[in-house]
Amino acid sequence: MIKVTGQSVQQGIAIGKIMIREKRPIQIMPEKTDAVDKEWEMFLYARKRAVNEVRRMEQVAKEKVGDKKAMIFSVYAMLLEEPDFEEAVRQKIKAEHYNASYAVYLAGKEKENFFANIRDNAYLNERSVDLRDIADRVIREIQHIRDEIVLPDEPVILVADDLTPAELVALDVTKILAIVLINGSVNSHTSIIAKSMEIPMLVNTDMILSDAYDKRGIVDGVEGVFLIDPDQETVNRLTDAKNAYEAGQKELEQMIGKAAVTKSGRSIKVYANIGNIEDARRAGLYEAEGIGLFRSEFLYLNGTDFPSEETQFEHYRTVASIMQDKEVIIRTMDICADKQAEYVRLASEDNPAMGLRAIRFCFTRPEVFKTQLRAIYRASAYGNLGIMFPMITSEEEVDRILSILKEVREELQSQNVQIGALKVGIMIETPAAVLISDELAKKVDFFSIGTNDLTQYTLAMDRQNAELKEFQNIHHKSIMKMIEMTVQNAHKNHIEAGICGELAADEELTDYFIGLGVDSLSVPPFEILPLRKHIRSLP
Ligand code: PEP
Ligand code: MG
Repeated sequence: MIKVTGQSVQQGIAIGKIMIREKRPIQIMPEKTDAVDKEWEMFLYARKRAVNEVRRMEQVAKEKVGDKKAMIFSVYAMLLEEPDFEEAVRQKIKAEHYNASYAVYLAGKEKENFFANIRDNAYLNERSVDLRDIADRVIREIQHIRDEIVLPDEPVILVADDLTPAELVALDVTKILAIVLINGSVNSHTSIIAKSMEIPMLVNTDMILSDAYDKRGIVDGVEGVFLIDPDQETVNRLTDAKNAYEAGQKELEQMIGKAAVTKSGRSIKVYANIGNIEDARRAGLYEAEGIGLFRSEFLYLNGTDFPSEETQFEHYRTVASIMQDKEVIIRTMDICADKQAEYVRLASEDNPAMGLRAIRFCFTRPEVFKTQLRAIYRASAYGNLGIMFPMITSEEEVDRILSILKEVREELQSQNVQIGALKVGIMIETPAAVLISDELAKKVDFFSIGTNDLTQYTLAMDRQNAELKEFQNIHHKSIMKMIEMTVQNAHKNHIEAGICGELAADEELTDYFIGLGVDSLSVPPFEILPLRKHIRSLP
């Protein structure tokens, strides 16, 4: 049995067969190009990523199998950075005008043959296989190969290097018992989706993929461990733990229909964060008091083009009708950065989290933006809807949004399309928005504090990067002060302020949030009942 540790994203215990995500074959085409500088840059960037990956594997292997066996990864890194190899690729791109993938393929092949043909040196002959592997790694990086996942009928524990949000939403969750990622971080959007799907999940694990081939395993999301090839005694013990965990979950169902009120009568609304209709059904089942954040972009990451007005309208109307007269806040698409859809073709960005994403993207694609606004306005006739806008940094942005909203509303009215009263809010998830929250509050009906991005931008620490875990203090005083300032400015201007980032579910802070007067906490559906139970236990 091999014990792997990781960070738990979602609790729960799963026992079953392991499936390792297989990689798609790379494409090797001997095409010539004049864009030699671009191809060269692509090679350098891809090689950097490949080196980082083998260095990471070296670290894991050192801890797991010792320095000697880990040597292979340091040889990989050396080969990748070797000047002869680089020169060969440079030659093939700059002088022979081959595309980056083909140039790496040719350079790798030459080296592979060289090593294979060294006489009487078995050690160096073996390095030819390594050469093939490292060239493949670089080509995969160049081609951004995202491997499609085909799940078998029997549900499995899915193990992968990483998963993008688009890949995860494409999966049939009934066929997944749990997910284990070698990379990934707790606050990434992939993790957020897994939470809302209630799939036990570990990220940032110290495992080596090949250990798990053809094995059964146990994911213990409570303890944050993954056991590969467990013995019978461990299976029995974890089966008991699984049953106990599930019984505890069942008991939580007593919280359905109970008010989120402390013993002394202080109350706060418990809302749900959702990404699709299935989540909305779960929120309905647990009797969430509303939907505080509908991440609309999750519906559309997987298509071949932006969704039509009609498709969007149907989704929003369905969610509104599931929640009946309860509030449903739809966030306009926060696309790009880590939420890439294949059909959105943007120039590559050095810092996508600070790039053309969310509201900025919508401003540059007015027809896409207006289509979504029309759909939301139309759905507002069928429920108690609110709309909110992500990544706001200035009053000008809000003015621009309000003028576009007016235009869309008047257009619909002139076409005699029925619309309802739509509350208009913004996300407070940049330090800039916090600092001008007094001014912003005068322009909108509510605030929703996105602590995930607010933390990332305040601490200047990438929420995707698991390596930063030791530096990230999610209870940092600066974040608490920002939340306090935002709530005070909202209330001073007679509007509500809720929290919809992951911090909303952090039970260590619930009492503090209630004390601040936060109006609502919006959490993934599975957190609703535990949070309600916790609130009811507070003095
Ligand atoms: C946030 O940033 O806290 C938030 C709720 O939005 P998202 O996690 O979708 O970026
Ligand atoms: Mg955000």
